[in-house]
Amino acid sequence: MRTLLSEAELHAGVQQLASEIDNHYGPRPLTVIAIMTGSLVLFADLIRRLSMPQRVGVVQASSYRGGTTSGQLQVDAAMMIDVKGRDVLLVDDIFDTGKTLDRVSGMMLEHGATSVKTAVLLHKLTQHSVEMRPDFVAFEIADEFVVGYGLDYMDMYRNLPYLAVLSPAEIESTAAESEA
Ligand code: 5GP
Ligand code: MG
Repeated sequence: MRTLLSEAELHAGVQQLASEIDNHYGPRPLTVIAIMTGSLVLFADLIRRLSMPQRVGVVQASSYRGGTTSGQLQVDAAMMIDVKGRDVLLVDDIFDTGKTLDRVSGMMLEHGATSVKTAVLLHKLTQHSVEMRPDFVAFEIADEFVVGYGLDYMDMYRNLPYLAVLSPAEIESTAAESEA
């Protein structure tokens, strides 16, 4: 496993992200929504560094069906809080194809949000399949499969405090283990 961003680098990036969001919104109340499960760790760190009054909620979205390539996107808003008339900030771990944030942003507007912006830890420099781009980005990364700080491979590695690139051999052995 190759470390891409250390714990200290991640924390500095999240602090910078929080400052940009604070500067943009000022003291206005904000509804901050985590796209589960990948944004779990980022979300906990980010919301504690934001200064405005916040309403906090979650939406479940998943597109990686156990592999490292994007599959069918599923969104479950059963646990979503009321966003009508609110300024909404969506928080996700990574912007890859962009389909997840594009879809969930649309959902927020359908539910009557006044405005929707997006914040991500990572922006993958790859071929995006949507027009939208994230509004707040902590780090740009190359097109490699990363784990840690909330990001998983087959539901593992989310707890790593740093961000790492999985080698093809590690991808294979994790897959073999979870089949055992
Ligand atoms: P998008 O809809 O932008 O293609 O995909 C976003 C989702 O795909 C992320 O929330 C994340 O769950 C997953 N994803 C994309 N790239 C990676 C990656 O390099 N590592 C991991 N673990 N998940 C990724
Ligand atoms: Mg995700």
